[in-house]
Amino acid sequence: MNKKKTALITGISGQDGAYLSKYLLEKNYDIIGITRSYSSNTTLKLRKLGIENQIKIEECDLLDYASLLNLLLNKKPDEIYNLAAQSSVGLSFNQPIGTIQFNTISVLNLLEIIRQFLPNTKFYQASSSEMFGNVAHLPINENTVLNPSSPYAISKASSHMMVKLYRESYHVFSCSGILFNHESVLRDENFFVKKLINGAVRIKKGLQENLVLGNLDIKRDFGNSIEYVKAMHMMLQADKPDDFIICSGKSIFLRDIVDFVFDFLQIDKNKIIIDKSFFRPAEIIDIYGSNQKAKNLLNWDYDNDFNSVLKLMIEDCMNEIN
Ligand code: NAP
Repeated sequence: MNKKKTALITGISGQDGAYLSKYLLEKNYDIIGITRSYSSNTTLKLRKLGIENQIKIEECDLLDYASLLNLLLNKKPDEIYNLAAQSSVGLSFNQPIGTIQFNTISVLNLLEIIRQFLPNTKFYQASSSEMFGNVAHLPINENTVLNPSSPYAISKASSHMMVKLYRESYHVFSCSGILFNHESVLRDENFFVKKLINGAVRIKKGLQENLVLGNLDIKRDFGNSIEYVKAMHMMLQADKPDDFIICSGKSIFLRDIVDFVFDFLQIDKNKIIIDKSFFRPAEIIDIYGSNQKAKNLLNWDYDNDFNSVLKLMIEDCMNEIN
């Protein structure tokens, strides 16, 4: 019988950490989840998926090389999924130093420990479509030139290049998944779709008058977190390490998402207030990717129905907000 594999997931308390854990548990992995600081919030999303008790949580500051080294030498994971990050573009404009510092040094620490001490450990890095900025030609593919336009995007571009360097120069099995926006009922409220749905449901229930939003005349490629985490695992099972774009393959105006949510809940769109102070300093107008490489080389599949994700998120919110 094959030995049970161990996966170490940083950012276990986040949306993707929870869904990836669920997926890997179904594949019979032992899972160690890393958090900066343990509290009841750490396991909120795992609890919602009913898997809290199946995961071993460890506290570790990924910026502290010595304690990270100690933990990794002790656990010797077969696979590391690095999902921890300051992951909000908006917040990164307020906290550029903290964002760039954490999102780059944490990756370097992990890669360096693998290079020196754990040559058989495979590494997945959560890269982002934000790295591309405004591009001349759509769809974006794995060869599109990086043009990051926020502190978050710069931090992700830098760590993305480190993953490539460690793969090509040090032969570490390191992969980047370049994920476009993906959502689920586990999404936090500081992200557009969840903020929109929470606000709309609160209006529906008479708990709030209006909903203040930023620029709706931009387009993004949105997908389903549950399907996207499967690609992370597939990358680390491939014969050789590589980078892959994971996306739906088409973009949607934020205004169309707002219309769908308000129509679904049958509420008046006059309750939306556009506040220009929410507009980003450097806004990407339209972005979508090509998922052909992942489909061809990983056999990853995606059926591209974002409205069904929105419906689930609205129904969940209707149950949660009273
Ligand atoms: P998330 O829900 O924000 O979770 C990320 C986790 O990272 C948090 O639960 C937190 O865990 C840790 N973290 C947050 N802020 C931090 C900070 N300032 N310093 C250190 N750790 C911090 O993210 P996600 O949506 O699951 O996404 C997972 C990864 O994919 C992230 O790296 C994100 O940047 C990337 N990504 C996401 C999307 C998307 O659409 N969701 C798209 C492209 C790329 P603890 O507090 O427990 O330590």
